[in-house]
Amino acid sequence: MILLDRVTKSYGRKSAALKGINLHVENKEFVVIVGQSGAGKSTLLKLLTREEKPSSGKIIVGGIDYDKLKDKNVPYLRRKIGVVFQDFKLIQKKTVFENVAYALEIVGMGNKEIKHTVPRVLNIVGLSNKADSYPSELSGGERQRVAIARAIARQPRILIADEPTGNLDPKHAWDVIEVLERINKYGTTVLLTTHNQDIVQKLNRRIVTIQDGKVVSDKAGNARGRQTI
Ligand code: ADP
Repeated sequence: MILLDRVTKSYGRKSAALKGINLHVENKEFVVIVGQSGAGKSTLLKLLTREEKPSSGKIIVGGIDYDKLKDKNVPYLRRKIGVVFQDFKLIQKKTVFENVAYALEIVGMGNKEIKHTVPRVLNIVGLSNKADSYPSELSGGERQRVAIARAIARQPRILIADEPTGNLDPKHAWDVIEVLERINKYGTTVLLTTHNQDIVQKLNRRIVTIQDGKVVSDKAGNARGRQTI
């Protein structure tokens, strides 16, 4: 569960980037966050990952009250939250398998478990046949799916995808969205920001619109019965 209660964030003396945001996201929801550039979407996501702290207001994620969260416990929080960005941030000198394995090595997972986990995760994102390829040998959509594999390898409760389709053509963008839907179906809460109206409409999920630092609309979707994926 994600809860933001009257959250405000100011950067210096400028007008606040977020102004008294209230947002409640249940476990296993899929929420699309939309809004023009500068509306405050990235700030909202950075507050959730604790890259930024709110100026006021309350944030609780998965039972963790951010007011009480000590800096030394932030890595623990980040294991609960996977993040995918528009630019994939893959390690070019490592293969697909190694990129995903690395995310597990740095949190101390043993070799045997890594060898078991990585193929399973690559299967979820549809890249089992690319395990030995390097990022330079992949399409943009495939690279983004590696980034998603890396983000979900530690089995986060929440996946934040910030404009993950921003650099992709429509076909590859949909491949990425389908992977997000699959991950959500397996029980992970997904927060997606996108500018792509086609995706927003066809996904038919809950849409939270942010404008000038405020939630101006919050519409439930009815995609639960969708048969396509
Ligand atoms: P979005 O992701 O919707 O494009 P942002 O959250 O990036 O919006 O930005 C919201 C507002 O906060 C903008 O006015 C932006 O200039 C400002 N802002 C974002 N990050 C910073 C920062 N690190 N320092 C100062 N201002 C910032």
